[in-house]
Amino acid sequence: MKKIVILGGGGFIGGHLGKRLKNEGHHIRICDIKKHEYFDHSEICDEFIVGDLTDPKVVKLVIEDGVDEVYQLAADMGGALYIFTGEHDADVMHNSAIINLNVSRECVLKKVKKVFYSSSACMYPEHNQLDPNNPNCEESSAYPANPDSEYGWEKLFSERLYLAYNRNYNLNVRIARFHNIFGPQGTWFGGKEKSPAAMCRKVAEEMDGGQIEVWGNGKQTRSFLYIDECVEAVIRLMESDFSEPVNIGSEEMVSINELAQMAIGISQKKLYINNLEGKEFFDKYGFKCPLGVKGRNSHNKLYKEKIGWEVSQPLRVGMEKTYQWISEQVQKKTVEHSV
Ligand code: NAD
Repeated sequence: MKKIVILGGGGFIGGHLGKRLKNEGHHIRICDIKKHEYFDHSEICDEFIVGDLTDPKVVKLVIEDGVDEVYQLAADMGGALYIFTGEHDADVMHNSAIINLNVSRECVLKKVKKVFYSSSACMYPEHNQLDPNNPNCEESSAYPANPDSEYGWEKLFSERLYLAYNRNYNLNVRIARFHNIFGPQGTWFGGKEKSPAAMCRKVAEEMDGGQIEVWGNGKQTRSFLYIDECVEAVIRLMESDFSEPVNIGSEEMVSINELAQMAIGISQKKLYINNLEGKEFFDKYGFKCPLGVKGRNSHNKLYKEKIGWEVSQPLRVGMEKTYQWISEQVQKKTVEHSV
């Protein structure tokens, strides 16, 4: 049994990871600034500490002597609406960088055996993601750096921070660049949700014969990895001896219109897609709709070579499970509002 700390375990990926590692019999301590909205804490950990990891005193308390592994997932983040409008740049950079500065040092001081850091595909240069049909997100393409968001720049800085601790203090690190992870028990409304959750919610909320809005011309491409496969990939990476940054994502690239169409197909409703095109546009809730890069897809050759495993589940399978969960949430919310 390992003593494991999951930072940001009150969030989507951390909650699922906690559940899996607890089921495997490890002792799990989670720290997050908020409680988990969808998991009962007894399902995902043995101890849940509510605390702000930008405060070094909290980090000292949470990462104590004898901890075997730390999974650092805490970050100020969200979907495009939070990350790409520019309105949260200072908070995103400040909060996440301070957390990583606190955590990396404390892991060295407390002699933690292994540390996982969650980076993001958002650190890849914008100039390699202009062609929706041919994006390049190979690990070796990271430099010269040119992420399209401050969120991506902070991720790149923190990757380098953990790698520097690895070089200078022998901190045993594993670094994953996540590409759009999705699934149940994640944010599905409010502006911080990612596109699979947003599409499922829009479809679940709409009546047969209606229409759903898709930002932009819908031709922008992405790939999406279902949460269970993400957790499996993280655990296998941790068990390996590979300490360079590596992609964790799916190589099944789809356009956002195809993603929307998939959600519509799963619902079996007859719905139309309304593409919000133009230079600056706002959706029906009054949100400005940023698009992010034109194309992005995971490139998994390095992961396969170094870890010897690959993700294989089709997007549709994960979307079916996610749609099911989100439509239940939509129904619960509708009932709450009508009582
Ligand atoms: P999430 O927002 O659900 O989880 C992050 C958690 O960090 C939240 O619960 C939040 O409360 C917590 N947190 C933020 N600031 C904190 C603070 N000061 N003190 C304590 N806790 C704090 O996000 P997620 O989707 O679970 O992502 C986990 C990690 O993976 C993040 O670092 C994210 O940047 C990275 N990532 C995720 C994706 C994705 O598609 N979900 C893609 C790329 C990278």
